[in-house]
Amino acid sequence: MESTDADVARPPAGNSPAGPARRSPLRTIKRTQRSEEIRRQIEAAIRAGDFGPGDRLPSERELVETFGVSRVSVREAIRSLEAIGLVRVYQGRGAFVNDRRSGFGEQMTRWLELHRGEVFELLGVRGALDEYAAQLAVERGDRASVAAISAAGATFQSAVESGASTEELIALDIGFHMAIAEAGDNRLLYDLLSDLHSYLAESRYLALQPPGRPAQSASEHALMVDAIEAGDAPLAKLATARHIASVRAVMEAHMSPDGQNVRSA
Ligand SMILES: [Zn+2]
Repeated sequence: MESTDADVARPPAGNSPAGPARRSPLRTIKRTQRSEEIRRQIEAAIRAGDFGPGDRLPSERELVETFGVSRVSVREAIRSLEAIGLVRVYQGRGAFVNDRRSGFGEQMTRWLELHRGEVFELLGVRGALDEYAAQLAVERGDRASVAAISAAGATFQSAVESGASTEELIALDIGFHMAIAEAGDNRLLYDLLSDLHSYLAESRYLALQPPGRPAQSASEHALMVDAIEAGDAPLAKLATARHIASVRAVMEAHMSPDGQNVRSA
């Protein structure tokens, strides 16, 4: 039986003695760090050309054996690679290196200029599907998949606290939302959301770059997690709708109608 080690991803609550305790220089190794390390190694191999465009990555089982980690860590790593557009996962067939190899950072400005209208339409569709996913996660999610949602939320939160890069936060944000989609156990919904997230990856820069915004997202995620853990579907949908509305508001504030804020010239 595999422990999901979701418990170690949450910061310990209430077990540190009051007062300024001396910190040990040694730290527990969290699952977050394991999946991060896996992601780093695979990403380096792809960028070095060890896996070319269209190549299939080693299977989940092979990666579990190679890295000596849990399946949960491998999946989390693959999900974040998918989130930044490096790989594409086809359920039942495995993860493949994407053809689109250029970094999306440099393409972002131009992409947003061309697709402003679509971004908001896509965000609307994504919001509706995210609400449905949250409902399904409550109705169908088992203990392990709900624990994975809560772990993904905690991972995002600790990345925010440690000042992770926007690119990393984007990947973890998508990882959190896809954990919810996965818990809903609906393959079509999962695939649709996975596509939407990859179309929206560029626009997430706008949503996660403003100072204070990542922390705001983390607290909105926490409300979603609480509702899902409590098994409250209407509340989970509401918390999701609020999160998407708040993301939308940030994006609207940073994208003027004529695109002047996103033009590089
Ligand atoms: Zn989010």
